[in-house]
Amino acid sequence: MSRIRARFWDPSGDRHGIPTYPWQMAPPHLLTLRQLAARGLRPGGQGVQAQILWASRRHGAPGVRAAYLYDVRFALPKRTPTPAQLAALAKATAARRTCPKCEQDAGYVLPRHLGICLDCAQEMAA
Ligand SMILES: [Zn+2]
Repeated sequence: MSRIRARFWDPSGDRHGIPTYPWQMAPPHLLTLRQLAARGLRPGGQGVQAQILWASRRHGAPGVRAAYLYDVRFALPKRTPTPAQLAALAKATAARRTCPKCEQDAGYVLPRHLGICLDCAQEMAA
């Protein structure tokens, strides 16, 4: 194991506070949020269980970067929105597309800096 890797090898968390692994050396039951999502899972109630640390050589921002890991055994299926939640979401979206001036559904989300539809904004500018 290289010195860099040994620096980040701390499965007991003695040095880093939580179990810490070098890149690609975490046990298979520990997954990042993205990896959980790819399996249709979410962390559930659990907090961060472990971390991967690696030295970033990205130019301009060298330093140690971290990815947080969750235990797949405590993960829960991703919530699928209920019809009521979908309806509420649709309503919120519709509200953001409805111009308060002409009261038309603009067909797009109103630009926040205008707060009205582009047609009305153009009319006011003219
Ligand atoms: Zn309008």
